[in-house]
Amino acid sequence: MNREKYYIRAYGCQMNLYEADVISSIMDKAGFAQVSNEREADIVYLVTCSVRNHAENRVLGRLNSLKQLKKSKPDLIIGILGCMAQNYKGKLSNGHGADLVVGPDEYRRLPELVNKFTQVHKPQIQTEFNTENYEGILPKVVNKTTGFVSIMRGCNNYCSYCIVPYVRGRERSKPKEQVIQEVNNLINNGVKDITLVGQNVLAWNGDGLKFLDLLKIVDGISGFDRLRFITSHPKDLTIKHFDVLLTLKKFCPNIHLPLQSGSNRILNLMNRGYTKEEYIQKVKKGREIIPDISFTTDVMVGFPTETDDDFKDTLDVIEQLKFDFAYMFKYSERPNTKACEIKPQVNETVSQQRLTKLIEIQNQITNEKSKELLDKTLEVLVESKNGVQFYARTKTNKVVIIKEPVETGKTYLCKVIRVAGWTPIGKIINN
Ligand code: SF4
Repeated sequence: MNREKYYIRAYGCQMNLYEADVISSIMDKAGFAQVSNEREADIVYLVTCSVRNHAENRVLGRLNSLKQLKKSKPDLIIGILGCMAQNYKGKLSNGHGADLVVGPDEYRRLPELVNKFTQVHKPQIQTEFNTENYEGILPKVVNKTTGFVSIMRGCNNYCSYCIVPYVRGRERSKPKEQVIQEVNNLINNGVKDITLVGQNVLAWNGDGLKFLDLLKIVDGISGFDRLRFITSHPKDLTIKHFDVLLTLKKFCPNIHLPLQSGSNRILNLMNRGYTKEEYIQKVKKGREIIPDISFTTDVMVGFPTETDDDFKDTLDVIEQLKFDFAYMFKYSERPNTKACEIKPQVNETVSQQRLTKLIEIQNQITNEKSKELLDKTLEVLVESKNGVQFYARTKTNKVVIIKEPVETGKTYLCKVIRVAGWTPIGKIINN
């Protein structure tokens, strides 16, 4: 049977979204055709995330429904790719029915593995680690307004709760030339807003250059308007970064800076490499140097041994720094990470209560931050449409809803006329 059509769905972080486009490029080049509905597909790929238990359970649920679909479509090939593939290897085929289990460094082999499976009808498990950076591959450009360029892969930081170094391997930077080529490819496809991604972009280096040098080079490329990067590790962020960012033409003033905890004792157990005071000082300095900068963050509650006082320290940072937005989670134990050895675990009910409290406080702050935008004129780039509503983004990474006809991919000036929940509603003033 000729396997022609594939469907791909990415879970988790920006890196997975980016790599789904790398996979599409590899598959297209090998003669397969992408479809947007799994019912039409001969091959279904799930690009998976292992960062939290919840993310894994979602994929396992999906895998179950695909197994059902396979009853009526026995030739369907199910491929589990990415972090879960690396983490669970053959278990995903034995216990869960995946036909292909392929880790993040082995995507180049996908067409060959599909063909092999078709011939031998035996699960293909491929999870070798190498120094793969997908050089020479231009990811398929799916979205013509915003795009990602991965500038590095892997992580050397070994935060004690995190599985990433175990499933994505050691840090490696993509050569500057490839980064430039990918940026140009996005520009040639009409992309206006480009985000450089990596587990810790600040650690990028190559040919004696550092991240800020790369940023200056990319900022100097003409043909696009907005430059972002994610994720920045607080231990590697310095005052010099803000000084340089201020001089860039396209930098969008938003930094995602995962706090994780406000307690120095917990930060130390997490192996994060900074203190509460250092973190606060960096954010304050950033705001002093770039007054319109927005900060977003990740916060975790219920890390093993976290006490009420530790949690209060976290709330203290949240209340002092007033982040524009925060992703908030309960600690999720990841097998074989150092944090598994730290005892005692925090009781589930206590973790949930802390999370609820944290969300309540941060939501209030996010809401106040949105209200500060009322009557302000903002430059927004229209990214997508849903029914009669358009979703546009400010340079500071806030989504504004526009309820009048606008063009996707175009930049407008809009005035915030009201705030619904915490989402600003804007009226175009320069149509
Ligand atoms: S910096 Fe820490 S949390 Fe981020 S990917 Fe690396 S180990 Fe995980």
